Amino acid sequence: MNCADIYFDHNATTALDAAVLEMMLPFMTQQHGNPTSRHSFGRHARSAIESAREQVANAVNAHPSQVIFTSGGTEANNLAITGIASCYGISQIITSAIEHPCVHRPALAMKQRGWKHALLGVDVSGMVRTDQLSTLLNTETSIVSVMLANNETGVMQPVAELAEIARRHGTTLHTDAVQALGKIRVDFAELNVHAMTLSSHKINGPQGAGALILDKRIDIQPIIHGGGQERGLRSGTENVAAIVGFGAACELIQTRLPQHDGHIRPLREHLENGLNKLGAKIFGAGAERLPNTSFFAFNEIDGETLVMALDRKGFAVASGSACSSDSSEPSSVLLAMGVGPDLAKGAIRVSLGMQNSREQVDAFLAALEQELTRLRQMTAIAV
Ligand code: PLP
Repeated sequence: MNCADIYFDHNATTALDAAVLEMMLPFMTQQHGNPTSRHSFGRHARSAIESAREQVANAVNAHPSQVIFTSGGTEANNLAITGIASCYGISQIITSAIEHPCVHRPALAMKQRGWKHALLGVDVSGMVRTDQLSTLLNTETSIVSVMLANNETGVMQPVAELAEIARRHGTTLHTDAVQALGKIRVDFAELNVHAMTLSSHKINGPQGAGALILDKRIDIQPIIHGGGQERGLRSGTENVAAIVGFGAACELIQTRLPQHDGHIRPLREHLENGLNKLGAKIFGAGAERLPNTSFFAFNEIDGETLVMALDRKGFAVASGSACSSDSSEPSSVLLAMGVGPDLAKGAIRVSLGMQNSREQVDAFLAALEQELTRLRQMTAIAV
């Protein structure tokens, strides 16, 4: 890696904040107790976890007793889908067509075991179709899962409205708020959802920590069995240092949110003005989006190729394709929005963070223009 490299991939992960690391370090060295132990080392670790629980709860206006720590967003989503749907026996799971694979795949796994799975569609701007939910819901529905903001487009979803519809039908609504936390205000009580997933490493906390925020009246079964930690819902010795870091990161976002918005929103606007001049198609531009995310494509330019070319120029951005070992499929989020597969294969995502500057965006736009010209010339020669 070149130290001049510019990081534009904050929806993938973020750097650990120095203040967060400082809070974590004692729990990786001297304070190494197991929180289940009765001695002072154990008690100290337990009390650190309980403080972190309060910090996480405060960040989303929930009660500390509603916080179940997990190893990250993936596990919290698996726990929500599998743990809630299992309580109802064979039943129907509804997920939106734009969920992260860690919501979509547990639903598919349950389908293989006999559960039913229905997909809630999105409109051309990437917003979930609230009108479809009432038609999909039936007396067999055990859980509806719709993310608060999409990781690729950044499009924010009408979760409070969906929760209201789900409640009227007597069913449970879970929301994956992994991408929303730290970028917009997230309020568990106000959204009136039953369950919500959070992840630490998207908010300058450590990787390997997350939480499921849970309305305690909800029936849910654990997916990991063992010593009964986290009210029996997530057995296994807690990752104390990571949980402490997650709590510290949650506290930081509370004070930084207005500053974040004030810096990031104009920066994204500046970026998109430049992208429009270069002829980009910006996905979800007509909808309300996270302030830091821009997902776009250029006609006849392959996204993977462009990402690699930009990487060589020192810019870290993401492509919109779901890579498997031997193929790179176009983004399923874009396909669900009705984008054609050719344009979808061209998608790249810039997700900005607090460290990014206007100068970096200008340098990126200049590099992008050069690469577009070069790639188009290469295609013209090949033809
Ligand atoms: N949900 C969304 C929307 C995400 O973007 C991600 C990660 O990219 C996850 C869940 C998974 O979170 P984690 O990396 O903490 O497992």
